[in-house]
Amino acid sequence: MANKVLITGASVAGNTLAWWLGRAGFEVTVVERAPAFRDGGQNVDVRGVGREVMRQMGLEQAALAHGTGEEGTAWVEADGRIAARFLTDELGRDGPTAEMEILRGDLARLLYDGARDRARYRFGDHVIEIAQDDDAADVRFAGGARERYDAVIVAEGVGSATRELVFPGENRPRWMDMTIAYFTIPRSDEDDRLWRWYHAPGGRSVSLRPDRHGTTRAMLTVQKRPEGEQEWDGDRQRAWLGETFADAGWQAPRVLAGMRDTSDFYFDVLRQARMPRWSSGRVALCGDSAWCVTPLGGVGTTLAVTGARVLAGELGRARDVAAAFAAYERAMRPMVKKAQGVPKLAPRLANPHSRTGIRVLHAVMAFASQPAVTAAAGRLFGGGDDSAPDLTRYPAPGALDAPAASERGEVAAPPGTGAWSPVAALALVGVVLGASAVLGRRNAPDPTHPTIRRWYRRLDKPGFTPPDAVFGAVWPALEVGLAIGGYRLLRRPAGARRDAAVALWLANTAMIGGWSELFFRRRRLGASAAASGAMVASGAALVAAAARVDRPAAALAVPYVGWLGFATLLAERIRRDNPARGR
Ligand SMILES: Cc1cc2nc3c(=O)[nH]c(=O)nc-3n(C[C@H](O)[C@H](O)[C@H](O)COP(=O)(O)OP(=O)(O)OC[C@H]3O[C@@H](n4cnc5c(N)ncnc54)[C@H](O)[C@@H]3O)c2cc1C
Repeated sequence: MANKVLITGASVAGNTLAWWLGRAGFEVTVVERAPAFRDGGQNVDVRGVGREVMRQMGLEQAALAHGTGEEGTAWVEADGRIAARFLTDELGRDGPTAEMEILRGDLARLLYDGARDRARYRFGDHVIEIAQDDDAADVRFAGGARERYDAVIVAEGVGSATRELVFPGENRPRWMDMTIAYFTIPRSDEDDRLWRWYHAPGGRSVSLRPDRHGTTRAMLTVQKRPEGEQEWDGDRQRAWLGETFADAGWQAPRVLAGMRDTSDFYFDVLRQARMPRWSSGRVALCGDSAWCVTPLGGVGTTLAVTGARVLAGELGRARDVAAAFAAYERAMRPMVKKAQGVPKLAPRLANPHSRTGIRVLHAVMAFASQPAVTAAAGRLFGGGDDSAPDLTRYPAPGALDAPAASERGEVAAPPGTGAWSPVAALALVGVVLGASAVLGRRNAPDPTHPTIRRWYRRLDKPGFTPPDAVFGAVWPALEVGLAIGGYRLLRRPAGARRDAAVALWLANTAMIGGWSELFFRRRRLGASAAASGAMVASGAALVAAAARVDRPAAALAVPYVGWLGFATLLAERIRRDNPARGR
């Protein structure tokens, strides 16, 4: 049974651990490398199960009260016009801006204030050696101290040095092709309470976010392969950002001017920490040291508080340290694996390199932000995170009334399943919808394409042909239905059935674009009637494959198949009645 515990790192994971272990009666020492408590850092958010941990700690309301006051997220054009906007209040749930948006330093301080009475904190020191025997870990510190502990928890963030001491060469970082800089700049009168996000060609973006300290939080990102920029000194990093964003437009000049004078410049080349194991003997990793998912995963802070709570809970329950560490890893792996599942394509999709790409991104976001779409998405995409650990296993301080997952009617999916993360799935669906919209526009028989329109109008059509407006309304609705189904399929556990259903969804979506190309642009009446028939078959195959994976996804594809049956009859009649007009 562990009694004396050392925690290295006094940020989110370290302070949460100290809070729980201190209350559970452990003798806790926290060693932080920085000479004093670190207040810096920009926006982080706590969602889902992380909110539950904060609630159990009695800190939820305080964290909300210390929040940044950000009210939503807006994608803006170079002249500042809003292209798309999500307001957290309207969504009624966490969107790009979560309800609990807080500065990293403010959150860490809340946790620290709640932990410091029950733990011994030592700043300006770090571990230089750990030797383990059967009874304890013998730890030597840079400050000269030598102490023995029952357990050592490393919570030093993504670049952890103690992790490298204990697990040399085991981390296989996954570079995410994104370079990012955060810093604080003076607030201006035009700054509002939205996260304003501007994309410039070349995969560059400039973000401005509000805070409650009378300043504005700026972020610059560049989507590119890493070239060792994290090793440069701060002056070189700033100079490189200055050159890279010189012609970016929007508020880049103001942000670059603010960067030169800021005192809290934070720069990183994003990489996930990928550790095959999180413990070795009496030493365990927690938070970003163990599994950094990067801000692209969207849940780094949620994972840090949740992992810390689970590790403290297991140390309190288990008969020995090894059993506690094993149970902790079993409980946390599924959630971490899911969060790390962000495909490397995601930053590329979310940060277009061309002006057309930026236009498509804005169009997709504008569509996704429509109230009807967000409401439907809330119903269809909701349902909680089934990979999150069950916190009811652990006794909570004070009276806790959080119901068990089973009592909430949530059904746990098999853990560690390779389902796409919500961000990655949404990104892929957005690209598919965007590409389909671009192709549809290219071939539409409307006033912007007079030749196509004239040809289409002159075709002999049967009496049961619906008016053009009906086609204009039905196809987008069917495609959105398919896209929502596609999202649901991507979120299901990986496997041959899921992958087959996803492939059929992609094939059907591609065929819709292909059909319009064949019919309107190439005027191949015979081939397009045959293609329409083939699509009935492929649509039916999609329904059948999806039904084995996710029934709502299958149901969403049924109207598409029904409409295709009708469209095939129509296409066949048009082919027959217009022998001379096709090619
Ligand atoms: C100063 C700072 C600013 C940040 N800003 C942002 C941000 O703007 N947006 C964002 O999304 N995320 C930010 N992060 C990262 C974010 O806090 C984490 O992704 C997440 O909350 C997980 O927290 P963590 O406690 O595991 O690691 P971290 O928050 O990275 O904390 C690690 C702690 O360990 C300390 N440490 C490092 N090495 C040693 C050592 N050898 N011995 C002892 N202590 C050590 C560090 O000083 C730090 O206090 C920031 C982190 C820091 C430290």
